[in-house]
Amino acid sequence: MPPKGYIKVNDFYCKGCELCVDACPQHVLQLSPDRINGKGYHPAEMTTSECSGCGVCAIMCPEAAINVFRMSGQKVSA
Ligand code: SF4
Ligand code: SF4
Repeated sequence: MPPKGYIKVNDFYCKGCELCVDACPQHVLQLSPDRINGKGYHPAEMTTSECSGCGVCAIMCPEAAINVFRMSGQKVSA
């Protein structure tokens, strides 16, 4: 069974660059169509629960705005 995970995006730091969206091998990220953060950007968010917890999005994010967790609750990266 493939690993399962989830992410938390710190909206305050997200600049809507979409690098995480393009990098996610599971294609589970998008820029929120209806939320805007304090800087005027649409922050990234998950679209489905198919995240594997691989951590690629967090590595790609230039603002270190993503925390990745495995379903065990273990933090993968910041
Ligand atoms: S941890 Fe991996 S699968 Fe999950 S959202 Fe980030 S890049 Fe996609
Ligand atoms: S890579 Fe980081 S700053 Fe860019 S959209 Fe994703 S969470 Fe936001």
